[in-house]
Amino acid sequence: MRLVLVGPPGAGKGTQAVNLASHFAIPHISTGDIFRSNLKAGTPLGLEAKSHMDRGELVPDEVTNKMVKDRLSKDDVKPGFLLDGFPRNVVQADVLKAILEEKKSPIEAALELVVDKNEIINRLSGRRTCKNCQRAFHIQYEKPAKDGLCDGCGGDLYQREDDKEEVIARRLEVYSEQTAPIIDFYAREGVLISIPAMGAVDEVTKRAIDALAARSGSNA
Ligand code: ADP
Ligand code: AMP
Repeated sequence: MRLVLVGPPGAGKGTQAVNLASHFAIPHISTGDIFRSNLKAGTPLGLEAKSHMDRGELVPDEVTNKMVKDRLSKDDVKPGFLLDGFPRNVVQADVLKAILEEKKSPIEAALELVVDKNEIINRLSGRRTCKNCQRAFHIQYEKPAKDGLCDGCGGDLYQREDDKEEVIARRLEVYSEQTAPIIDFYAREGVLISIPAMGAVDEVTKRAIDALAARSGSNA
């Protein structure tokens, strides 16, 4: 399965990606996670990305596209992959299409998570992220078993710089101006599947798996 997750910041892409990647046994590739891991490791890529991320802007396409191209050249993506946070504009979507055309293995589905704006703001402002494995929790909706600690790896939870109110507003603008057009792009490609992403995490996962199964059944 070669899958792209689409939706505004806070729609639940990272949360659903973990469940779907495990269900389909494919790697979860999050460009945001790769930038944050690089930042933590103090690499030049991480430092370059930080200046854009902290302002809620996109990291320049040349940097991001090269990083994704390198990642998609690894052997573990042969059975498929799930991209989370990429593409984020039409140029990136075109680059992805070209990379995959070369491998004769196009995107099979772009799964759009549809969430109300108020819910997005609640989700983003209450998000807490593991410093170590980057798993997302929520102070109200997805509480960790132990306060401030990740259920998965025990790492410390923190509030991302770009989850503060001023930056959230800019990220939502960037989404509508630059990222939302990729929904039409994938609709034209004939691979768009939109699902409501309100409700509990597991319900949304079930909806996603059912929608993907219905699509692959109808293509069979
Ligand atoms: P994205 O990757 O799209 O930015 P996340 O997966 O990080 O979004 O989710 C944003 C926040 O919303 C996190 O705090 C997460 O715990 C929470 N969240 C995700 N899905 C749900 C859901 N279905 N219901 C309530 N909270 C959710
Ligand atoms: P995310 O973890 O997906 O919310 O991404 C956090 C931030 O990383 C974004 O606001 C951007 O600054 C940067 N980023 C992640 N993915 C991309 C991308 N595909 N293109 C450009 N910037 C990105």
